[in-house]
Amino acid sequence: MNSNNNFKIPPSIFNAFEICKYQAWLMQHGIIADQHNSFIEIGRLLDDTTYKRDRKNIILAGFPAKIDIITKNNGDYLIVEVKKSSKSLDSAIWQLKYYLYILRKKDLIFKAKLKIPEERKNYNITLDKNDIVEIDRKLDKIKIIILQDLPPNKKRIKFCSACGHNEFCWA
Ligand code: SF4
Repeated sequence: MNSNNNFKIPPSIFNAFEICKYQAWLMQHGIIADQHNSFIEIGRLLDDTTYKRDRKNIILAGFPAKIDIITKNNGDYLIVEVKKSSKSLDSAIWQLKYYLYILRKKDLIFKAKLKIPEERKNYNITLDKNDIVEIDRKLDKIKIIILQDLPPNKKRIKFCSACGHNEFCWA
């Protein structure tokens, strides 16, 4: 499959797919997470209070990616993603790599950093050739699954209790 066909997959769905394919399908089909979920509220609180000085909340034109922070540091452009914990560290890293991938497609070379302020952790994220191949592979797989009429099977995972779709899935 030509990966360009997948290029418009939003980072939010790319990220969800890393954790739960069922949730990625729900998001693609417009089934929105419970906005009163307390973990979402913790996320909002972080959104309002952490790194307030730097926060830009920019949506770059041309692709659906909302980036927490964009800043310039020693001549380098830097995007920053802020997470409330390292519980889903792998998916957070891939989300940032996906941002870098999208920007790279537009000939924009950025650096990236993942910050987890409550754990006082920072990670520098890069995108190499192997990552690009892996992202193309992931996009092909995501597109096949989320565009199906029926969702993939759901299963309980450790993230269910903190998931905004919990009530929809398991009530
Ligand atoms: S509650 Fe669990 S199964 Fe349902 S969408 Fe969330 S993570 Fe996936």
